[in-house]
Amino acid sequence: MRIILIGPPMSGKGTQTARLCKELNVRCISTGNILRKNIAEGTPLGLEANKYMKKGHLVPDDMMIDLISEYFEEMGDKIDFVLDGYPRTINQADSLDKALKKRNIELDKVVLLVVDRNVLLSRLTGRMTCENCGATYNLINGKPKEFDTCDQCGKKLSKREDDKLETLVNRLTVYTNQTRPLVEYYEKKGKLVRVDGDDTPDEVFKRIVDAIGVKR
Ligand code: AMP
Repeated sequence: MRIILIGPPMSGKGTQTARLCKELNVRCISTGNILRKNIAEGTPLGLEANKYMKKGHLVPDDMMIDLISEYFEEMGDKIDFVLDGYPRTINQADSLDKALKKRNIELDKVVLLVVDRNVLLSRLTGRMTCENCGATYNLINGKPKEFDTCDQCGKKLSKREDDKLETLVNRLTVYTNQTRPLVEYYEKKGKLVRVDGDDTPDEVFKRIVDAIGVKR
Protein backbone atom coordinates (compact mmCIF):
# COMPACT_ATOMS: atom_id res chain seq x y z
CA MET A 1 0.00 0.00 0.00
CA ARG A 2 1.00 3.62 -0.48
CA ILE A 3 -0.17 5.92 2.25
CA ILE A 4 0.60 9.52 3.18
CA LEU A 5 -0.01 10.92 6.64
CA ILE A 6 -0.57 14.66 6.93
CA GLY A 7 -1.30 16.69 10.02
CA PRO A 8 -0.03 19.64 12.03
CA PRO A 9 3.03 19.29 14.27
CA MET A 10 2.19 17.25 17.42
CA SER A 11 -0.77 15.56 15.73
CA GLY A 12 0.82 12.13 16.23
CA LYS A 13 2.01 11.50 12.66
CA GLY A 14 5.32 9.97 13.74
CA THR A 15 3.77 7.56 16.25
CA GLN A 16 1.03 6.44 13.88
CA THR A 17 3.42 6.08 10.93
CA ALA A 18 5.65 3.72 12.90
CA ARG A 19 2.64 1.55 13.83
CA LEU A 20 1.19 1.61 10.35
CA CYS A 21 4.45 0.55 8.69
CA LYS A 22 4.61 -2.44 11.04
CA GLU A 23 0.98 -3.36 10.40
CA LEU A 24 1.31 -3.07 6.61
CA ASN A 25 4.88 -4.34 6.52
CA VAL A 26 5.97 -1.49 4.26
CA ARG A 27 8.76 1.03 4.26
CA CYS A 28 8.43 3.99 6.58
CA ILE A 29 9.71 7.28 5.17
CA SER A 30 9.68 10.01 7.81
CA THR A 31 11.42 13.04 6.36
CA GLY A 32 11.76 14.76 9.77
CA ASN A 33 13.57 11.69 11.18
CA ILE A 34 15.80 11.43 8.11
CA LEU A 35 16.76 15.11 8.46
CA ARG A 36 17.39 14.82 12.23
CA LYS A 37 19.62 11.79 11.62
CA ASN A 38 21.58 13.84 9.08
CA ILE A 39 21.92 16.66 11.61
CA ALA A 40 23.16 14.25 14.29
CA GLU A 41 25.72 12.82 11.84
CA GLY A 42 26.80 16.30 10.69
CA THR A 43 26.25 15.58 6.97
CA PRO A 44 26.15 18.53 4.50
CA LEU A 45 22.38 17.95 4.10
CA GLY A 46 21.93 17.99 7.88
CA LEU A 47 23.95 21.18 8.33
CA GLU A 48 21.96 22.99 5.65
CA ALA A 49 18.56 21.63 6.77
CA ASN A 50 19.20 22.57 10.40
CA LYS A 51 19.32 26.28 9.48
CA TYR A 52 15.63 26.06 8.56
CA MET A 53 14.46 23.44 11.04
CA LYS A 54 15.64 25.22 14.16
CA LYS A 55 13.51 28.24 13.21
CA GLY A 56 10.48 26.07 12.46
CA HIS A 57 10.69 26.80 8.71
CA LEU A 58 10.43 24.27 5.91
CA VAL A 59 13.57 22.96 4.27
CA PRO A 60 13.56 24.19 0.62
CA ASP A 61 11.58 22.10 -1.86
CA ASP A 62 14.52 21.28 -4.14
CA MET A 63 16.45 19.68 -1.26
CA MET A 64 13.43 17.65 -0.17
CA ILE A 65 12.51 16.56 -3.69
CA ASP A 66 16.08 15.31 -4.27
CA LEU A 67 16.03 13.47 -0.96
CA ILE A 68 12.78 11.64 -1.76
CA SER A 69 13.92 10.83 -5.32
CA GLU A 70 16.96 9.05 -3.85
CA TYR A 71 14.67 6.92 -1.65
CA PHE A 72 12.49 6.05 -4.63
CA GLU A 73 15.52 5.06 -6.72
CA GLU A 74 16.68 2.81 -3.89
CA MET A 75 13.29 1.13 -3.62
CA GLY A 76 13.37 -0.03 -7.23
CA ASP A 77 10.09 -1.76 -8.19
CA LYS A 78 8.86 -2.28 -4.64
CA ILE A 79 7.23 1.09 -4.14
CA ASP A 80 5.09 0.50 -1.04
CA PHE A 81 5.39 3.03 1.75
CA VAL A 82 3.97 5.18 4.47
CA LEU A 83 5.15 8.75 4.01
CA ASP A 84 5.23 10.89 7.15
CA GLY A 85 5.95 14.58 6.73
CA TYR A 86 6.17 14.47 2.93
CA PRO A 87 4.82 16.17 0.87
CA ARG A 88 4.49 19.42 2.81
CA THR A 89 3.97 21.82 -0.10
CA ILE A 90 2.03 21.73 -3.37
CA ASN A 91 5.35 21.70 -5.23
CA GLN A 92 6.45 18.57 -3.38
CA ALA A 93 3.05 16.95 -3.99
CA ASP A 94 3.26 17.68 -7.75
CA SER A 95 6.73 16.21 -7.90
CA LEU A 96 5.59 13.10 -5.99
CA ASP A 97 2.68 12.73 -8.40
CA LYS A 98 5.07 12.77 -11.36
CA ALA A 99 7.41 10.25 -9.71
CA LEU A 100 4.49 7.86 -9.10
CA LYS A 101 3.04 8.32 -12.60
CA LYS A 102 6.44 7.56 -14.10
CA ARG A 103 6.28 4.20 -12.34
CA ASN A 104 2.59 3.63 -13.21
CA ILE A 105 1.51 3.51 -9.61
CA GLU A 106 -1.03 5.39 -7.50
CA LEU A 107 -1.40 6.49 -3.93
CA ASP A 108 -3.98 4.51 -1.95
CA LYS A 109 -4.97 7.06 0.68
CA VAL A 110 -3.89 10.33 2.26
CA VAL A 111 -4.77 10.39 5.96
CA LEU A 112 -5.33 13.79 7.55
CA LEU A 113 -4.97 13.73 11.35
CA VAL A 114 -7.33 16.33 12.76
CA VAL A 115 -6.35 17.73 16.18
CA ASP A 116 -7.43 20.99 17.82
CA ARG A 117 -4.73 23.69 18.18
CA ASN A 118 -5.04 23.82 22.00
CA VAL A 119 -4.49 20.08 22.22
CA LEU A 120 -1.41 20.42 19.98
CA LEU A 121 0.06 23.09 22.25
CA SER A 122 -0.62 21.07 25.40
CA ARG A 123 1.11 18.01 23.89
CA LEU A 124 4.26 20.05 23.33
CA THR A 125 5.21 20.27 27.00
CA GLY A 126 5.64 16.55 27.47
CA ARG A 127 7.19 15.34 24.21
CA MET A 128 10.54 13.51 24.31
CA THR A 129 12.21 11.98 21.25
CA CYS A 130 14.87 9.35 20.64
CA GLU A 131 17.50 10.83 18.32
CA ASN A 132 18.73 7.37 17.49
CA CYS A 133 15.59 5.56 16.29
CA GLY A 134 13.07 8.41 16.06
CA ALA A 135 10.61 6.94 18.62
CA THR A 136 8.55 9.59 20.41
CA TYR A 137 7.11 9.57 23.93
CA ASN A 138 4.80 11.83 25.81
CA LEU A 139 5.44 12.28 29.52
CA ILE A 140 1.73 12.92 30.07
CA ASN A 141 0.09 9.98 28.31
CA GLY A 142 2.73 7.86 26.62
CA LYS A 143 5.64 7.56 29.06
CA PRO A 144 8.72 5.43 28.38
CA LYS A 145 9.27 2.60 30.93
CA GLU A 146 12.33 4.41 32.29
CA PHE A 147 12.11 8.19 32.59
CA ASP A 148 14.69 9.25 29.97
CA THR A 149 15.48 6.05 28.07
CA CYS A 150 14.04 4.79 24.79
CA ASP A 151 12.02 1.56 25.22
CA GLN A 152 12.95 0.45 21.72
CA CYS A 153 16.71 0.98 21.45
CA GLY A 154 17.83 1.91 24.98
CA LYS A 155 19.37 5.27 23.98
CA LYS A 156 18.81 8.50 25.97
CA LEU A 157 15.74 10.56 25.12
CA SER A 158 15.92 14.29 24.54
CA LYS A 159 13.73 17.24 23.71
CA ARG A 160 13.73 18.12 20.00
CA GLU A 161 15.41 21.43 19.28
CA ASP A 162 12.33 22.59 17.37
CA ASP A 163 9.91 21.67 20.18
CA LYS A 164 10.15 25.07 21.89
CA LEU A 165 6.88 27.02 22.17
CA GLU A 166 8.01 29.82 19.85
CA THR A 167 9.23 27.39 17.20
CA LEU A 168 6.07 25.31 17.44
CA VAL A 169 3.92 28.39 16.87
CA ASN A 170 6.03 29.06 13.74
CA ARG A 171 5.61 25.45 12.63
CA LEU A 172 1.84 25.72 13.06
CA THR A 173 1.75 28.87 10.92
CA VAL A 174 3.92 27.20 8.28
CA TYR A 175 1.54 24.21 8.36
CA THR A 176 -1.52 26.42 7.84
CA ASN A 177 0.04 28.40 5.00
CA GLN A 178 2.06 25.80 3.13
CA THR A 179 0.87 22.30 4.05
CA ARG A 180 -2.85 22.73 4.72
CA PRO A 181 -3.54 23.46 0.99
CA LEU A 182 -2.68 19.79 0.40
CA VAL A 183 -5.99 18.87 2.01
CA GLU A 184 -7.91 20.34 -0.90
CA TYR A 185 -5.31 19.03 -3.37
CA TYR A 186 -5.82 15.41 -2.27
CA GLU A 187 -9.55 15.86 -1.70
CA LYS A 188 -9.93 16.78 -5.37
CA LYS A 189 -8.09 13.61 -6.29
CA GLY A 190 -10.49 11.59 -4.10
CA LYS A 191 -7.68 10.32 -1.90
CA LEU A 192 -8.21 12.16 1.38
CA VAL A 193 -9.62 10.60 4.55
CA ARG A 194 -10.03 12.59 7.78
CA VAL A 195 -9.25 10.92 11.10
CA ASP A 196 -9.90 12.45 14.52
CA GLY A 197 -6.45 12.40 16.17
CA ASP A 198 -7.52 13.56 19.61
CA ASP A 199 -7.49 10.25 21.51
CA THR A 200 -5.08 7.60 22.78
CA PRO A 201 -2.52 6.33 20.21
CA ASP A 202 -4.30 2.92 20.20
CA GLU A 203 -7.71 4.43 19.45
CA VAL A 204 -6.34 6.75 16.73
CA PHE A 205 -4.53 3.79 15.17
CA LYS A 206 -7.78 1.80 14.98
CA ARG A 207 -9.47 4.76 13.27
CA ILE A 208 -6.66 5.03 10.72
CA VAL A 209 -6.72 1.33 9.92
CA ASP A 210 -10.51 1.51 9.42
CA ALA A 211 -10.23 4.65 7.30
CA ILE A 212 -7.73 3.14 4.88
CA GLY A 213 -9.68 -0.11 4.70
CA VAL A 214 -7.15 -2.55 6.13
CA LYS A 215 -8.64 -5.86 7.27
CA ARG A 216 -6.96 -7.14 10.48
P1 AMP B 1 8.66 16.60 11.46
O1 AMP B 1 9.48 15.67 12.27
O2 AMP B 1 7.90 15.91 10.36
O3 AMP B 1 7.78 17.49 12.32
O4 AMP B 1 9.68 17.59 10.70
C1 AMP B 1 10.55 18.43 11.43
C2 AMP B 1 11.07 19.55 10.54
O5 AMP B 1 11.80 18.99 9.42
C3 AMP B 1 10.00 20.42 9.90
O6 AMP B 1 9.54 21.44 10.77
C4 AMP B 1 10.77 20.98 8.70
O7 AMP B 1 11.67 21.99 9.09
C5 AMP B 1 11.62 19.78 8.25
N1 AMP B 1 10.90 18.95 7.24
C6 AMP B 1 10.47 17.68 7.38
N2 AMP B 1 9.86 17.25 6.27
C7 AMP B 1 9.88 18.30 5.40
C8 AMP B 1 9.37 18.51 4.08
N3 AMP B 1 8.71 17.54 3.44
N4 AMP B 1 9.58 19.72 3.51
C9 AMP B 1 10.26 20.68 4.14
N5 AMP B 1 10.74 20.58 5.38
C10 AMP B 1 10.56 19.40 6.03
